[in-house]
Amino acid sequence: MAKTKGLILVNTGDGKGKTTAAFGTLFRALGRDWKCAVVRFIKGKWQTGEGMMAERIPELEFHTCGRGFTWESDNLDKDKETAQEGWEKAKKFINDPSFQLIILDELTYTINYNFLDKEDVLETLRNKPENQHIIITGRDCPPEIIDMADLVTEMKMVKHPYEKGIMAQKGIEF
Ligand code: ATP
Ligand code: MG
Repeated sequence: MAKTKGLILVNTGDGKGKTTAAFGTLFRALGRDWKCAVVRFIKGKWQTGEGMMAERIPELEFHTCGRGFTWESDNLDKDKETAQEGWEKAKKFINDPSFQLIILDELTYTINYNFLDKEDVLETLRNKPENQHIIITGRDCPPEIIDMADLVTEMKMVKHPYEKGIMAQKGIEF
C-alpha cells in the first residue's frame, strides 16, 4: 500500500446526505483531536443544529458565509461579495498546514454561479498542504474538481419525505 496522504473528498449528487456525511467525518476527526475548520457557503433561513453544536466546540473554526439560496436572492452582487469573503477565509485555512480537515460546505454552487474564480479555487486546491484533508459538498460538482479529487461519492435519491409533503424537520434536516 502507498503511504497515507491528505485527500480531497467530494460529496455530490441529488440525494440527501452530502453535508451530514461531511459532518460525520468532522465528528470523527474532532475525536482524534484534529484541528478542523468548516466554511459554509450557503446560509439557510433557519438556525441549524450543527451550527448550535459547533458553538459548543471552541476549538472548531466554524464560519457561515452564504446569504440564503440564490433562487431567493434579491441581490446577486451581494451574494458574490459574501461568497468571496467566505473563500478568503477558506483560503486562509487551506494555506495553513496545521489545519488537518477543512469542510467547504456547498462550495459547488459558488463556482457554478461564477461567484468565485474557478481557476483560483482549482489552484488553491492543487497547492493544498500535503497532509491536509478537504471535503467539498454540493450538487453538480464541477468536473475539474471531480478529476482532482481522491474520493467522490454521489448521493442518489431513492426516496425523500419531501415527496410525501413532509417538511424539513429539526434534528434531521437542520
Ligand atoms: P443534508 O444537509 O441533510 O446532508 P444535503 O447536504 O445532501 O443534505 P443539500 O443539497 O445541501 O442536501 O440540501 C439541503 C436540504 O435539502 C436538506 O434539508 C435536505 O433534506 C434537502 N434535500 C436533499 N435532497 C433532497 C431531495 N432529493 N428532495 C427534497 N429535498 C432534498
Ligand atoms: Mg448540503
